[in-house]
Amino acid sequence: MTSTAEPSTPVQDYLAQSPKKLLIGGEWVEAKSGAVMEVLNPATNETLVQVAKADETDAERVVQAAQSAFENPEWRWMSARERGHLLYKMAELVAERASEIAQVETLNVGKPIFQAEDDVETVVDCFRYYAGAARLLGGKTPAVPTDFFSYTLHEPIGVCVGIVPWNFPFQITAWKVAPALAAGNTVILKPASRTPLSALMLGQIGLDAGLPPGVLNVVTGPGAEVGQALATHPAVGKISLTGETATGAKIMKLAADGIKRISLELGGKSPSLVFPDADLNQAVTASLTAIYFNAGQMCAARSRILVHEDVHDAFVKTLSERAAQLRLGNPIDRETHMGPLISPDQVERVSKYVEIGKSEGARLVIGGSRPDDPSLAQGNFYLPTIFDCVDNSMGIAQEEIFGPVASVIPFRDEDEAIRLANDTSYGLASSIWTTDVKRVHRVARQIRAGGVWVNTNMTLFNETPFGGYKASGLGRELGIESLMSYTEVKHVSVFLGESVRGFKL
Ligand code: NAD
Repeated sequence: MTSTAEPSTPVQDYLAQSPKKLLIGGEWVEAKSGAVMEVLNPATNETLVQVAKADETDAERVVQAAQSAFENPEWRWMSARERGHLLYKMAELVAERASEIAQVETLNVGKPIFQAEDDVETVVDCFRYYAGAARLLGGKTPAVPTDFFSYTLHEPIGVCVGIVPWNFPFQITAWKVAPALAAGNTVILKPASRTPLSALMLGQIGLDAGLPPGVLNVVTGPGAEVGQALATHPAVGKISLTGETATGAKIMKLAADGIKRISLELGGKSPSLVFPDADLNQAVTASLTAIYFNAGQMCAARSRILVHEDVHDAFVKTLSERAAQLRLGNPIDRETHMGPLISPDQVERVSKYVEIGKSEGARLVIGGSRPDDPSLAQGNFYLPTIFDCVDNSMGIAQEEIFGPVASVIPFRDEDEAIRLANDTSYGLASSIWTTDVKRVHRVARQIRAGGVWVNTNMTLFNETPFGGYKASGLGRELGIESLMSYTEVKHVSVFLGESVRGFKL
């Protein structure tokens, strides 16, 4: 594979150091067992580096460290303003190391470098946002009877575990770490086994910024072992998972016995609704990004494109022509639009769904295989794929493929479009393409999803909540909503009257 931009020296240095350690209690330590696991480059399937493979024993160590850090008065009673300053410092350090982090993320995840750079930029802003938001944690003074004075406090939950998937490792790590720390919790990060590198870098940034030891911990290891041990540990107060819906259901059950707080950001099968009055050129441009960004490995991918029958043929023609122009290649190369999928397993999963689509009678318009280019043969590449004439009941329209596969579903009128959009067990995102302002609001209210984007897609802001209805999750990331979800609410009631209520004895 040819590359026009080789990794810079700091990245080579970082990888050469082989960060085989866990961050526990402010120190980099080996897994107790000494075990390590390989981290691969999905563009070549070569080993990038080895990292520590934590198990239940390490889970116990890290929870103890995070618990004692929570009880450490230096952190427990640190003012929101000071916590904000630390988060702001973390933002500055991420900004300083932005290029290095983006390159490591690209090598580890396979996402094109321009996307990794965008991710890092939003992480800087995420830390800045929560640095300021920490000061908004004030409570209320409800209008209780006049012989009482009541107020509410938002207090940290305690030890929070952030479990992160492999598709947006750095960004999703920040979505969990920044609000949890802003609210005064301590955090244990469990990155996905395939993509732990940027989380480990953030651990060092936390130390460099001056977080007290044990406030931010990072443990790498398999979800079913160390993840599960963390999720069931009695001293853990909250688990925030981003991952598959099946993993979310498992975490919910694991958390039940301890009545732990949970946030779940799970899968999706999100629709774009293209009405006949839409700007088709814009709708096609955005639909390409909405399914082929990150090679379709996005929870909010608009994998179902519902198109009105009047514009269907023109839409599919332009969409497929432009999809065919997307350049697959080495993700570190700035000319690349689409990198590899994360793993050979993921290629197999996508291939399986393509066969399902064909057998269900959908029309394969383009793609449907790995590329012929011999320079891509070692990596996990898959061509941009479009199925047309898809019926919404088909497996390819109902199940999350998590790859570069779009299903185009024709519709006749607005009611049918809304019915099809909602005919899914998921409810994460959606897009509406129309120039009719009344239709915008009518349709937006009827869609059962946590996000509706109108004449755009994928615009996530750190200020706005993100999450799903139905099987797409529980709770919200980002915005003040996420900050509040890392707090317990306490009611303090002060009696101001003369004679306290009690038994008349
Ligand atoms: P996954 O569910 O396989 O893994 C997610 C994380 O959970 C990993 O860190 C994994 O090690 C851990 N894990 C797995 N089993 C566990 C267990 N029993 N106990 C504790 N931890 C466990 O998901 P993935 O394949 O890494 O990511 C892809 C999925 O994530 C897709 O379904 C996608 O839609 C979803 N996702 C959702 C959002 C969102 O915001 N809604 C964002 C990104 C990804």
